[in-house]
Amino acid sequence: MLADFCGLYNACLQQRIEAYRRRGVALRYAQQAAELCAVRAEEPALARWSFTALQQVLRRVETTYTAFFRRKRGFPRFRAASRYHAAAFRIGDGLRLLKTGRLAVVGVTGGIKVVWHRTFPPGAKLGTAVLTRQLGKWYAVFSVEAEFGGAHGVGDVGLDLGLNALFATSDGHSEPAPQFERRAHKAQRRRQRALSRCKRGSRRRDEARARLAAGAARISRQRRNHAHKLSRELVSRYARLAFEDLSAAALARSRLARSIHDAAWRTLVNMTTYKAESAGAVVQLVDPRGTSQTCPSCGAVAAKPLALRRHTCACGSDLDRDVAAAQVVRDRAFGPGYGLWSLSVRVAA
Ligand SMILES: [Zn+2]
Repeated sequence: MLADFCGLYNACLQQRIEAYRRRGVALRYAQQAAELCAVRAEEPALARWSFTALQQVLRRVETTYTAFFRRKRGFPRFRAASRYHAAAFRIGDGLRLLKTGRLAVVGVTGGIKVVWHRTFPPGAKLGTAVLTRQLGKWYAVFSVEAEFGGAHGVGDVGLDLGLNALFATSDGHSEPAPQFERRAHKAQRRRQRALSRCKRGSRRRDEARARLAAGAARISRQRRNHAHKLSRELVSRYARLAFEDLSAAALARSRLARSIHDAAWRTLVNMTTYKAESAGAVVQLVDPRGTSQTCPSCGAVAAKPLALRRHTCACGSDLDRDVAAAQVVRDRAFGPGYGLWSLSVRVAA
């Protein structure tokens, strides 16, 4: 299917280039779409596929063309079939959802089995579906119109990027670093070694490289999936969320130890921020300096060594070290003294 779509894409591009070169005419979508019926009648390879799906290919040519003329992109290039990875459909036309949970695509025999990651939101108006091929796997991405909003929780929370745990919250929860990270890195190191043992230019080396790439893609999918779930949970639990702003982080000694979680942390902050925006919740980033050395109850500053896991203070405060730091983060963003003693606060949402 993608090879046929790619052929059509290239033919449309060719037609546009020649029409301009020979006759000085700039072809538009409507003109090419008007010819589609005739082209389809002559080309059995194209006749198999749904008419609207082929129209989407023409739209894609149009999009890359207009992007070029707005000087946003380079001149549209011909595509190799091996680098043409996506096909767009209108749901209900060329691609249908079967009651069995499978997908029916015009031109493909039998229903396509799907691993559903989630159900559609209630009352969703189905729009388009894009089928993409990535590293030998196929994905279906659906655009739907649905009512969201009002989906955030109540109260304030601060989060502290942890040393062993991924983060601690100001109300005492400690989120463990996901298990898959450690396991996956071990497996990737093994695949890397296997690759380096293979002879250059050999078929086995190509296979080893493909396994390494597939492993990396798997980690990145798992990481994103995990961050989506965590950020969704945070937004549906709280109304205002405060994170440490790592872009402003002073290079304290403890930063190095925590930097293993940096990538996961940034993804989490980004995803929480956009989810909060659409739900009407608030995300603030605060200066992370000294959060682990400040007492959340009385504000006293006392350095404590990394090995010390408790926060104890003369004022009677006795808390887990990371929870205390998370409370300082929360109070810097939303506390009564907010704006006075917080060093700098960046409003993110
Ligand atoms: Zn204190």
